[in-house]
Amino acid sequence: MKDPTYERFIAWYESINQNKSGSVFSPHKPLAIVWALAGVLKGKRFISYKDDREALEDLIWSQTNLKSRPNCLQPLWRLCNDSSTIAVWISNPSSPELNKSGDVPTAFATSNNFQAGFSDEFYTWLARNLDITQQLIMHIIDDNFAESLHPEIFDSLGMGKISPVVVESERIITSISKVKRDPNFPKLVMAAYDFRCCVCKLKLSLNNKPVPLEAAHIKWKAQGGECSVHNGLALCPTHHYTFDKGIWTIGQDYEVILSERVIIDGKSDTFFKPYIGHSIVETLMDDRFVPNKANIHWHQKSIFKRV
Ligand SMILES: [Zn+2]
Repeated sequence: MKDPTYERFIAWYESINQNKSGSVFSPHKPLAIVWALAGVLKGKRFISYKDDREALEDLIWSQTNLKSRPNCLQPLWRLCNDSSTIAVWISNPSSPELNKSGDVPTAFATSNNFQAGFSDEFYTWLARNLDITQQLIMHIIDDNFAESLHPEIFDSLGMGKISPVVVESERIITSISKVKRDPNFPKLVMAAYDFRCCVCKLKLSLNNKPVPLEAAHIKWKAQGGECSVHNGLALCPTHHYTFDKGIWTIGQDYEVILSERVIIDGKSDTFFKPYIGHSIVETLMDDRFVPNKANIHWHQKSIFKRV
């Protein structure tokens, strides 16, 4: 699709998101953008710092391993400063005194009804093309997060209530997501781990054939992780989702480490506590397939909710 407004939007998105790979995962800006886009779907002109703050911060907090609640003001403010032709802010009065880091102070934003959103030009374009707005949200989420986390992010954005007309649009935009998943990855990972979850060792067979479980990327594909056996783990759905969620990680000796922040109800501690300290490479069919330490290190730093 050759729409110059669309091209400008993508160029803006790519410029603000270009440094995402390599360093510690920090999805504040992409989440603020999808929050604003989801607002457009609901006919909402601006994100209000006062009214939206709690829900947006809950979303950012749930998708990062930050120990304390993040402040959503900084990403909103910085997005507006990245390009005033696409994202804008308003407040009354309109001239905040900035703090030392060049950000608008929280107290000012609260008392002066700070709001952020798309410029008139882009809001109008997005509101007229709701199918594209929705696809932009989906692509930005795909471009940043592990697949197992997509449903809960859509839920937080209130995307369950979108008109089916929008969902079934035939206008498919060029994918902005660079995430290309290798179809052979699950097969390679499953075979390497003998078709077992490498944590609980679950292995199922049906009609004399192993039932494939799930292949997880240790370093997320969306964050530049490879579709290689050295970046894969065979996991049952529970251990896959909780790994992507940062509830557990792998240590120096490939042992399972559980987050100290997670509280497991005493009636059911069969999923995690029996496996703490146990090796995930025990069932590996060949020592050459061991996970790459750099990928494990990325998961420990970026995703694991350590304390
Ligand atoms: Zn398992």
